[in-house]
Amino acid sequence: MRNYPERSSVIDLRSDTVTKPSLAMREAIFKAEVGDDVFGDDPTVVKLEMIIADLLGKEYALFVPSGTMANQIALRSLTQPGDEVILEKDSHIFNYEAGSASALSGLQLLPIKGKRGVITKEQIEAEIRPEDIHHPRSKIISLENTHNRAGGTIFPLDEIKRIFKLAKENNLKLYLDGARLWNAVIATGIPLHKWAKNFHSVSVCLSKGLGAPIGSVLAGDEEFIKKARRIRKMYGGGMRQVGIIASAGIYAVENNFNRLIEDHRNAKLLAERLSELKGIKIDLESVHTNIVVLDISESGKDVPSVIKELKEKGVLVVPFGKTKIRVVCHLDVTRDDILRALEKFKEVFES
Ligand SMILES: *Cc1c(COP(=O)(O)O)cnc(C)c1O
Repeated sequence: MRNYPERSSVIDLRSDTVTKPSLAMREAIFKAEVGDDVFGDDPTVVKLEMIIADLLGKEYALFVPSGTMANQIALRSLTQPGDEVILEKDSHIFNYEAGSASALSGLQLLPIKGKRGVITKEQIEAEIRPEDIHHPRSKIISLENTHNRAGGTIFPLDEIKRIFKLAKENNLKLYLDGARLWNAVIATGIPLHKWAKNFHSVSVCLSKGLGAPIGSVLAGDEEFIKKARRIRKMYGGGMRQVGIIASAGIYAVENNFNRLIEDHRNAKLLAERLSELKGIKIDLESVHTNIVVLDISESGKDVPSVIKELKEKGVLVVPFGKTKIRVVCHLDVTRDDILRALEKFKEVFES
């Protein structure tokens, strides 16, 4: 029998989605006023939607169960089957949504390989289809900020502005998967509305770094949100007394947004120290926010056995391709936890 560490001593760096509602958040949940949100009767959901719409500088917003559903509702609301979506090859929509853009909306996805998750105006321009009955119709350009698979990297605002202009000139809709847009705001000091201004519509997650248990919000103009509300129902995402979780979302925005800076500091510390260990390579310039991706191809070890060894020492991380491991800092790991995790990495890589 192996002796696994106690659950409480485990340092879980797999994702910023593993956070658990704090006592204070649970108190907000306990007190939430609720009603049937499919009838539009839940005051807490309405409040959350107004808060997010205001922060993003959009007319309206819609509370949905997940980031994946937010993305898929947006795509469905803006397209016809056979339309094409231009996006980055490592994007969440292309890789991690179970093929749903094709399955649910009949869309063709046109992936462009970016650098650290960033695709340029010129790269996109080269892929926009001319009007011709042979071609699918280019309809949406979808960007991701921060970029998950590239390691939490920030999409520069100047490039976004150039792409916005391109989209406008070509009558395309520019969509933002902003699951971790919060982190880009904290890292750059550029507020949410300045990013969102360049996009037709935007989604943000409450259940990543902000630490709410469930939920994403989709924002845009009145016509778009009206359509999105109908598609949400079609996808089974119309929820009833859901103020019970929207309350956690409000608590998260009000209390856990500014503290993301701590996660960024922890990630930087982790990245710098880990990159000094034998056999670990890290692109330090890509560590913009709370995610660190380690390449262990020169360590002589394979990813599954490193993950297993770390787990036995009480540190959880996830595989990220054949030679890489992803580590994510969040609300439920302290600087002390990070220092302890570093000791465990040292034991694995330098013994
Ligand atoms: C997490 C994430 C999503 C949504 O994920 P869900 O698990 O469906 O909430 C979407 N886009 C990006 C970039 C993400 O990181």
